[in-house]
Amino acid sequence: VNYQKSDLIYEGKAKKVFAVTGHSDLIIQEFKNSLTAFNGEKKASVDKKGQLNISISTMLFKYLATRGIPSHWVKTDENLNMVCKKLKMIPVEVVVRNFVAGSLKKKFNKPEGEPIQPALVELYFKADDLGDPFISDEQAKWLKVSDQATLDSLKKLALQINKELTEIFPKVGLKLVDFKLEFGIDSDGKVLLGDEISPDTCRLWDLKTGEKLDKDRFRYDLGDVVEGYQKIFDKLSKLLEEK
Ligand code: UDP
Repeated sequence: VNYQKSDLIYEGKAKKVFAVTGHSDLIIQEFKNSLTAFNGEKKASVDKKGQLNISISTMLFKYLATRGIPSHWVKTDENLNMVCKKLKMIPVEVVVRNFVAGSLKKKFNKPEGEPIQPALVELYFKADDLGDPFISDEQAKWLKVSDQATLDSLKKLALQINKELTEIFPKVGLKLVDFKLEFGIDSDGKVLLGDEISPDTCRLWDLKTGEKLDKDRFRYDLGDVVEGYQKIFDKLSKLLEEK
């Protein structure tokens, strides 16, 4: 099937979301080249970034599906549009951490790279005007962001996804430090993984050299962004594409 974009439904910092002609249950995600950090304070546009992210995300969604973890992903077409099931998004960012970095390092003054066992799952309320604050289960229920059963399934799914991802990244010489997921509810009322899994939303370090290959290159001016994302793509595609 060839899906056609119709109206723009939503434009975020890194993606555009379109309706799909004749398919009210689907959306098309277009990945932009723009990069933002620090709640939109730092901005740039990097050629090829969007296409690398959509390719990496596609490989990971496909892999997770083979491991029994379905997502909203339906198809990525030759124009690098990602056709997805339409979900009612839950306004929560689910962060999983295997090693100390980023905001956790700052918050608790822990050494960067220290292993975290078992992995931590944290919830953040998606609200740009508030800077996406950390949110407890009780606060989420009080704000009617979600109910306990849904929060429990988000955390369980996030840890299952972490288990599957930490199975593949070391095999390709990468360390999965932390990452962010978003979920939504499909038309059957099922909680499904949505959004993207890409170097914009994960911290990935070279297992041998410790080189940071993800969006921290942009955040902290650590080197060429596309070069890092391309390395991640090349390593992953060796394992996931040639089967
Ligand atoms: N993350 C994200 N979107 C956000 C916040 C965080 O994708 O709005 C990802 C980030 O790339 C990292 C993980 O979630 O892989 C944990 O981020 P952290 O809480 O350390 O915040 P940061 O240091 O990115 O501000």
